[in-house]
Amino acid sequence: MPAHLYAELSSRFPADRSRIAFETQDGALHSYADVEAGAARMAGALVALGVKPGDRVAVQIEKSLQAVLLYLGCARAGAVFLPLNTAYTPAEIEYFLTDAEPTVFVCDPARKDSLAGAADAANVAHVETLDADGRGSMSERARFCPPTFADVERGPDDLAGILYTSGTTGRSKGAMISQENLASNARALVEYWRFTSDDTLIHALPIYHTHGLFVAINVLLMAGGKMIFLPKFDADQVMSYMPRATSLMGVPTFYTRLLQHPGLTKEATAHMRLFISGSAPLLAETHREFSSRTGKAILERYGMTETNMITSNPYDGDRTPGTVGFPLPGVSVRIADPGSGALLLPKGEIGVIEVKGPNVFKGYWRMPEKTAAEFRADGYFITGDLGMIDKRDYVHIVGRGKDLVITGGFNVYPKEIETEIDGLPGVLESAVIGVPHADFGEGVTAVVVRAKGADIDEATIARALYGRLAKFKLPKKILFVDDLPRNTMGKVQKNVLRDRFKSIYEA
Ligand code: AMP
Repeated sequence: MPAHLYAELSSRFPADRSRIAFETQDGALHSYADVEAGAARMAGALVALGVKPGDRVAVQIEKSLQAVLLYLGCARAGAVFLPLNTAYTPAEIEYFLTDAEPTVFVCDPARKDSLAGAADAANVAHVETLDADGRGSMSERARFCPPTFADVERGPDDLAGILYTSGTTGRSKGAMISQENLASNARALVEYWRFTSDDTLIHALPIYHTHGLFVAINVLLMAGGKMIFLPKFDADQVMSYMPRATSLMGVPTFYTRLLQHPGLTKEATAHMRLFISGSAPLLAETHREFSSRTGKAILERYGMTETNMITSNPYDGDRTPGTVGFPLPGVSVRIADPGSGALLLPKGEIGVIEVKGPNVFKGYWRMPEKTAAEFRADGYFITGDLGMIDKRDYVHIVGRGKDLVITGGFNVYPKEIETEIDGLPGVLESAVIGVPHADFGEGVTAVVVRAKGADIDEATIARALYGRLAKFKLPKKILFVDDLPRNTMGKVQKNVLRDRFKSIYEA
């Protein structure tokens, strides 16, 4: 029987199932036949544990091939896959388990004891294990299950996954992702980015996040291609695979680290056809430097947990630095007035990015009010990102709405100031934040990382900005740090900066 997402993926697996789907870093090769059988065994093991269609299977596990098989096993058994960041503490895990009420929770064997309390508190029926090498009780159970499985019927609107947003304020929300959300997005991306069974993707992203899990894995499986499946990003290792790979999906930090690698040259990247970046803004400077070193323009795309991928720079045509390109086929994007949302803004004006399409999630798990608050009456999802569409129809992101600085009643979009500062010699990167200020409400504050060996100071930056930016946009203070705080997906954690510098304007 068809389980919508898995049926679509497997219908596109190579006819020759001996073709390789995964190569792990120990050099082991895993064919499409192995993936099918492995997913069937995992599905069998889940059903034997009492997992019924629609039940959640929560996992907090390291990246491994078996973790992927568990994800696919869930799809085949009609269960809802719920991956959790490996950095979450037992207290955080308790919240997620209590909220999602999974039937099964799979964790690293080394953490089983410390997580037992959380699983107990949430009344989870079964706690199973899987380690970074794919060993654990879940694999043991799967081993004794048959290599074939009659897939549980699931329709396009049935849930395939719940991904908790990395929300930095308030409670993290579970985004309910349907079978068709994933299938439609993978279909669109395979075509837009021209993935085929001849592709080999270097997979160095974590798989508890939409980027590494859904974008990378679904796209490559749907294309019938191969993944070189690495536990984490390591510039040396990634460079060493490039001569026999065709593509890389990364967060911007992958690219800044590759640029620091002396081996990054035209020759070293000659076999690669596509470098994709997303999950956080790619500096225009990184884009340009990468092009000049390798002759290849990074393709930047934009998406979020709730919406899967929304826009992408074109495959052919201009991959414009500092933009995220055009809406994917079937996806509609508009820019609305952040206040009312009623007014749609013309090209060139900054507002909130709203999106509608088969990619947009079904709402937040058990939070109907939050869900209602984030959708317009006509079905558009309010992303919370601020941006604009330029004359050539490229979408630009200027930051998260919550990062907007309001100073003396004026709106300041951090990206505009950051772009100016980042362009100065001696600056590696910057983050502009609003910090409580008695006169202005918020004071525009720049936090700057100097380039290696540079000694640029506050006065030099202030002089350079003067005359280039309206007065109200000029930072009231410019502070220097060694590094910007980032989460694992490479996003700058502005809340951490705001907290750290919250008292700088106090008398
Ligand atoms: P997440 O749900 O963790 O994937 O985070 C989604 C958020 O990441 C979006 O709402 C954007 O704020 C940000 N984001 C993703 N891709 C990009 C990009 N290419 N440029 C700028 N911000 C991005």
